[in-house]
Amino acid sequence: MIGIVVVSHSRALAEAALDLALQMVQGEDRPTVVIAAGLDDGSLGTDAMAVAEAVGGADSGDGVVVLLDLGSAVLSAEMALEMLDPDIAGRVRLTSAPLVEGLVAATVAASVGGDLDAVTREAERGLIGKQDHLDAATSGPPAAPEEVPTSYDARAEVEVTGAHGLHARPAALLVRTLAAYDASVRLRNVSAERGPVDAHSLSAVATLDARQGHRLSVEASGPDATAAVAAVRDLATRAFGDSVATEVHDPPLATRGSGLDVAVGPAIVLDEQVDLSTYVVGSPDVERERFDAALRTVDAELEDLTTTAATRAGAEHAEVLQAHRALLDDPGVVGPVREAITAKVAAPQAFSRRMDELHDAFAQLTDPYQQARAQDVDAVRHRVLAALTGRSDGTTDERGVLVVDTLDPARAVALDAQQVVGVVTRRGGSTGHGALIARARGIPLYTDAGDLPIAGGDVVAFDARDRRITARPSESERAAYEQLVADRTRERATAEQHAREPVVLADGTTVLVMANVGTPADADGLVAAGADGIGLVRTEVLFGQLSVLPTVDEQAQAFIALARAADGPVTVRTWDVGADKPLPYLPLAAEDNPFLGVRGLRAFRSDPEPLLAQLQAVCVAARQAPVRVMFPMVSRPDEVDWALTQLSEAGRRVGGVPDGLEVGAMIEVPAAALRARDITRRLSFVSIGTNDLTQYVMAAERGNTGVQHLLDAGDPAVLRLIAMVCDEVGPHVEVAVCGDAASRPELAARFVEVGVRELSASPPAVALVKARLRGQ
Ligand code: PEP
Ligand code: MG
Repeated sequence: MIGIVVVSHSRALAEAALDLALQMVQGEDRPTVVIAAGLDDGSLGTDAMAVAEAVGGADSGDGVVVLLDLGSAVLSAEMALEMLDPDIAGRVRLTSAPLVEGLVAATVAASVGGDLDAVTREAERGLIGKQDHLDAATSGPPAAPEEVPTSYDARAEVEVTGAHGLHARPAALLVRTLAAYDASVRLRNVSAERGPVDAHSLSAVATLDARQGHRLSVEASGPDATAAVAAVRDLATRAFGDSVATEVHDPPLATRGSGLDVAVGPAIVLDEQVDLSTYVVGSPDVERERFDAALRTVDAELEDLTTTAATRAGAEHAEVLQAHRALLDDPGVVGPVREAITAKVAAPQAFSRRMDELHDAFAQLTDPYQQARAQDVDAVRHRVLAALTGRSDGTTDERGVLVVDTLDPARAVALDAQQVVGVVTRRGGSTGHGALIARARGIPLYTDAGDLPIAGGDVVAFDARDRRITARPSESERAAYEQLVADRTRERATAEQHAREPVVLADGTTVLVMANVGTPADADGLVAAGADGIGLVRTEVLFGQLSVLPTVDEQAQAFIALARAADGPVTVRTWDVGADKPLPYLPLAAEDNPFLGVRGLRAFRSDPEPLLAQLQAVCVAARQAPVRVMFPMVSRPDEVDWALTQLSEAGRRVGGVPDGLEVGAMIEVPAAALRARDITRRLSFVSIGTNDLTQYVMAAERGNTGVQHLLDAGDPAVLRLIAMVCDEVGPHVEVAVCGDAASRPELAARFVEVGVRELSASPPAVALVKARLRGQ
């Protein structure tokens, strides 16, 4: 990759410019940028020797682009070239590019693998977008690139919805996203009649002057043309990464489920494979009409669902459905299907085949976010085939327990929560989009039932609290489940009456019962749910919808919004990325054992910048709201020391770490539990993550259906470690539990018995846990 050197009279200026440029690129894609700025004594100036060293540090063998500020910076850089080995000097380009704009453009161009010429050219064109915008009245539209192909393999039109248009960061995201595809892509601003320009060039994209409401035409050619256009459409539905899920929603208005974790009823089994065996194929004209009608039907369904999703589950889920809709009029999808129909292929087969190809194209990409789009393709395929064959699309109006392979978001939104008394998924984990929506809507959910035989109409009963599921229960088993539903309903009603009251033990000690928050929707109604605050913000889930790292300000505002919604303290856990929680903007290398690998705090040892940005946000938010912070996946005390050094550095960047900021760590690794005293020497609290602690103590992966029977946080081995932590930590260190076990009232009571003084449960469980602790 091309390296970059910034030569400036002022170190502060160079660092700030670099900070801005690095906002445009993420993790492993970042080029090496070395600063040669200011003199050793801290005064302003440039030093040829320092520039030569910086070039050596930035050069990987591919070449180095040097950006310079004023006057003697140029002289120093020229002298540096003379000092360097001629081989190296031969692959160094000194550019006349503007420092800030050039650095941003060069950083993006280098990050997507541009060669020395391309990176230099991008840097030198750095001013074009700004000039073009300011001179628009006189200069008219920019010149088209030298060669503009007139044909294309895939095309779409998208709208720019972000308040600030396609400004630098969204444009950088677009350029980086397209780098993954083997396609040449051109963009035209249809509204402002600008372009076409090469979508792989940040400076060219800037000349489109694309503002909010403008429509862009996207044309692509090459082997990945369709996937590239689909990727742009997807980005557009998410305002090119500019939509930040920071708003706390109004409480959902539409139908809510029972809020219980138990259900019993006749199974409504929805097959993922739509049965095509009885489909009678018509002539090509008939098939084409059927296909078009199915597309219209599904588009109308999804349009309705998008509106419903916004109120039932939150705006971020509505965006997912918009992405589904976008597939329906994608020429790269629809065109080949129509062609196949003309060639006498039946519409369902033609459509399935095209969707299979698209599924495979996404599934093969290495970026986990893009891979996940394969699921969108499957969901749309199912819906269109259902419309073609006149079968149910999953919007069932039968009453019972829905059994599905995986729960896609559209279906989770569409469910009638009064009729569907529970949902059983066979696969897909408990943190997928659909599962999150179902939970947010209070629909009882049992995930990962595997291949348990269940036929439509069989009675199925489950208790997700104790992870029990039975198909075709005996009379007495069924009666016991029905009794459980009645008991849990009563239990909930009583608990809710007293939810807002504190829990005070017989000896006068108060136990706080907080809530775990992932999506902004989880924060709805926290006060009414009785939560004494937020004991765990899973930041990787809160910002998991974004495709770029949120800025310091965006994160700080999100934390402050949560504190307002909770009307109490908010415990921000720093990025717990890795293993089962991939983030598109913090990519990690594939590993054989990711749960034992680079995850949580460990992921930032090589590049702490994303962690630093988050800690800056914590410092900013903590000045305005009761925010505290904790670090995940700590094994040894020196990791706490390292994390605290990062916190000091983050504080230094934003005017200091606020006085009294409470800092803690999660205890999720047996080693940390066994050394709780050393770990907490410099901390004010710890929070035990029983999900991970249990998997590491029992050597049973938390997502593996085959070892679920070992994953019991109530196992004596786990309980003994928790008790040990309570005994070991110093007197000023609070011990909390924030794993899922804290949502189980019986276990929560046992944790309190051994000394835990704070619990953080899923919001619907808070009232129940409080009631149990009070002995109600
Ligand atoms: C845990 O491990 O218990 C925990 C709360 O963290 P997560 O489930 O997010 O890994
Ligand atoms: Mg954990």
